[in-house]
Amino acid sequence: MNEFELIRRYFACQPVARADVVAGIGDDCALLSPPAGQLLAVTSDLLVEGVHFFPDVDPASLGHKALAVNLSDLAAMGAEPAWFMLNLTLPAIDESWLAAFCRGMFMLAREHNVQLVGGDTARGPLAIGIEAQGFVPATTALRRSGAKAGDRIYVTGTLGDAAVALQHRLGKQRLSESDFTVVADRLDRPTPRLREGLALRGLAHAAIDISDGLLADLGHILAMSQTGARVYLDKIPLSAVCRAHVDKFGWEAALATGDDYELCFTVPPQNVATVEKLTFACGLHCIGEIEAETGLRIVDTSGQFYQPAFSGHDHFSSLVKQSI
Ligand code: ADP
Ligand code: MG
Repeated sequence: MNEFELIRRYFACQPVARADVVAGIGDDCALLSPPAGQLLAVTSDLLVEGVHFFPDVDPASLGHKALAVNLSDLAAMGAEPAWFMLNLTLPAIDESWLAAFCRGMFMLAREHNVQLVGGDTARGPLAIGIEAQGFVPATTALRRSGAKAGDRIYVTGTLGDAAVALQHRLGKQRLSESDFTVVADRLDRPTPRLREGLALRGLAHAAIDISDGLLADLGHILAMSQTGARVYLDKIPLSAVCRAHVDKFGWEAALATGDDYELCFTVPPQNVATVEKLTFACGLHCIGEIEAETGLRIVDTSGQFYQPAFSGHDHFSSLVKQSI
């Protein structure tokens, strides 16, 4: 099979056909028609074998995750997803791998009505780059820079599950089969919080998706907003599996490890009642508040300040090559 047959067979026939795609896959460029009066939100994420995923990862999960992490960025901006591009380097053409990868990717694409409109394909070590685009009204985009003293800080879902699953896969912690199944899904098939991001338009002051751990990502909101915050450990939402892990190993998985893909956002006092009434299937928890004094103050269960010995995930934080 050559490159063009591969594109035709796996990427050109896809489940979503949007009216705003004038020309999709097959020409030199895609031609796209964004709605008048909205901003285009554009994001990309790169997944590299051996850095972001294990070589033997299930390809359907990988297809899902490669798209999900991009949709998560759109969610964090309050954007509605529309289109995406797929840049792929493959060591060889493995048809069953490609079919499963596309199945995982297109199932999520269909769920959110987002259309693959182009990309590039080359031979090389396995890596997947996706760029996604969506729409957001200029006035209600959820920026990192909008937090104000007095805002409440919220997170969706639960934190740390993906980190716990990774610890098990790396052989650093043993989970029961059923516990592992629950958290493995959080690591392998994260759910982009798109409905939640849309619902927060006009209500949240600032938002970010948690990809590198709460401390690092909330830290980005604080830096961009030139504010500080107080966060209460006993308010951090944890699954039962992650709670057991935290009790045994401490808070690092829940506060400073990547791949949660939950939203962290800040809400001004006048919008708190409205936000608390939003019914998010994934749940919603207030974990603290924004303060004028810069810095992040973490308060433990006995009311003392807690000083973590770790920070968030950073690919370039050490000279030692990142494994996974
Ligand atoms: P060009 O050489 O002009 O850049 P290509 O031959 O690389 O074009 O690609 C042909 C068409 O297939 C283009 O529309 C391109 O966007 C699309 N395409 C190539 N690779 C992918 C891919 N991995 N996913 C989706 N579309 C792709
Ligand atoms: Mg090309």
